[in-house]
Amino acid sequence: MYVDTHCHLIDEKLADSKSVIQEFERYGITKAITMGCCADTSEKGALLSNEYKSVYFGSGVHPSDAYKFNNQEADRVVALLSHPKCVAVGEIGLDYYWEGYDKAVQKHAFITQLEIANEHKLPVSIHMRDATADTLEILKEHKPIYGGVLHCFAGSVETAKILINMGFYISFAGTLTFKNANKVLEVAKFLPDEFCLTETDSPFLAPHPYRGTVNTPKHVPVILEKLAQIKGRDMEVMARVVMQNALTLFPKLK
Ligand SMILES: [Zn+2]
Repeated sequence: MYVDTHCHLIDEKLADSKSVIQEFERYGITKAITMGCCADTSEKGALLSNEYKSVYFGSGVHPSDAYKFNNQEADRVVALLSHPKCVAVGEIGLDYYWEGYDKAVQKHAFITQLEIANEHKLPVSIHMRDATADTLEILKEHKPIYGGVLHCFAGSVETAKILINMGFYISFAGTLTFKNANKVLEVAKFLPDEFCLTETDSPFLAPHPYRGTVNTPKHVPVILEKLAQIKGRDMEVMARVVMQNALTLFPKLK
């Protein structure tokens, strides 16, 4: 039994969601959390979770969509949080990689949603890209009381140490299997088992040797296998550790 703690099942690349979900279930993935990128995609995630037992969802506005974050958008995100299968506020965070970002707009959406998560007693799924210093500063000042995970982690061992000392989980995606993965390999080697999660971030970042194809949650065992190999563990042992960590961080992921 495997869990994909971060994917985007409502992405148009996975439009045939029925066959995607049936296929990953056949591969042994019993739980997949489809993360929202805005109110619209969060609402679609909720609908998919109503239809499929293995699908759970996050509700939140991604930093790249932070320009959409107004009171109305926030109300729609909040309205989903009491849904029995809404396991997290996410994905939220900061992304200074893509051209045209507005730091103030992103920080406002991030901070507001961290406060929303605390009010609604939910953990958070955090996206952090080229924004380590600002993310750490905000997480210190607006600490998620119910925990969180740094998804598709691309930071250093030093940053990972700071984060796990604050109680955060670190999630590994297909990037762990890439040939140029030295930095994330170091993090995987260092990270104690109790802070490890895995995800596909599908439809993006298909793991090696599937790189360049449309990714789906069926590939989560490829990432788990790599993580197990790096840590010198049996793959099934690693899978059980990650499942237990996911159930601990996301109590609604029953
Ligand atoms: Zn994502």
